[in-house]
Amino acid sequence: EHADTPLVVRGLRKEYADFVAVESVSFTVNRGQVVGLLGPNGAGKTTSLRVLMGLTRATAGEILVFGHRLEPGAPVLSRLGALVEGPGFLPHLTGIANLRLYWKSTGRPEADADFEQALEIAGLGGAVNRRVRTYSHGMRQRLAIAQAMLGMPELLVLDEPTDGLDPPQIAEMRQVLRRYATDGRAVLVSSHLLAEVEQTCTDVVVMNKGKIVASGKVAEIVGDSPTVQLEVSDV
Ligand code: ATP
Repeated sequence: EHADTPLVVRGLRKEYADFVAVESVSFTVNRGQVVGLLGPNGAGKTTSLRVLMGLTRATAGEILVFGHRLEPGAPVLSRLGALVEGPGFLPHLTGIANLRLYWKSTGRPEADADFEQALEIAGLGGAVNRRVRTYSHGMRQRLAIAQAMLGMPELLVLDEPTDGLDPPQIAEMRQVLRRYATDGRAVLVSSHLLAEVEQTCTDVVVMNKGKIVASGKVAEIVGDSPTVQLEVSDV
C-alpha cells in the first residue's frame, strides 16, 4: 500500500508533557510535488517535520514513506533527505570540499553522493571551487540544501529553507525546488510566509495551532479562501 507515494501522514499527533503541539494532521506528498507546510510561529510545523525526519517519535498516528512505516532508525530514512537547521560549514574550504567532508561523516559510499549534481541543482554549479567564506547568505543556504540532496533522496524535507533570503534569492529557491521535484522526486518544505509558499510550491498544507486548516493546490488555496487569509494574517 502506497509503495509509490513518497509520504503519507495519517492522524499525526505529538504531545509534550501537558501540551498538544500537533493534532489530527493528515496529508500526502506525491512524486513531482513541492508541498509547502505553511503556518505562523508555533503552528506545529517544526514539530511535524522533526517527526517526519525520524528525529522524534509521534504520540500517535502513522507515517508511511514509500509504504514503509517511518520510525527513528528505520532503513527507509535513507530515501529521505532532510535539512533541519543550517549546518555549520568550514569557511576556508570550498563548497564541494565541505560536502565531501559531510558525506564522509555519514559513512555512506562516496559513489552514492554525486556532489556535482546536487550543487548544480542547488544553483551553485559555478561556485563549487570557491571557498565558502566568499559565499553570500543565500549561497550558504543553498549549500545546506545541496547537502540534504546528496544521494538524491526521493523525498526531500526542508525546514524554512527560505528563512532570511531576499526576493531574488527566493525566486532562485523556486528553481532549485522545482528542479529537484522532477524525475519522480518530491519536496516538503515549511514556511511561515504565504508569499514564499505561493512562489516556490505546487501544493500547500496550512497549519494553525497544531491542526490543518486548509490544503490543496497553491492556486486553489491561495486564491480567495477567507479561512486561509484569516489564519495567515496573524503571522
Ligand atoms: P516555528 O516557526 O516557531 O518553528 P512551528 O510551527 O514550527 O513554529 P513548533 O516549533 O512545532 O511550531 O511548535 C509548536 C508548539 O509546540 C509551540 O507552542 C511550542 O512552544 C511547542 N513545543 C515545541 N517543542 C516543544 C518541547 N520540546 N516541549 C514543549 N513544547 C514544545
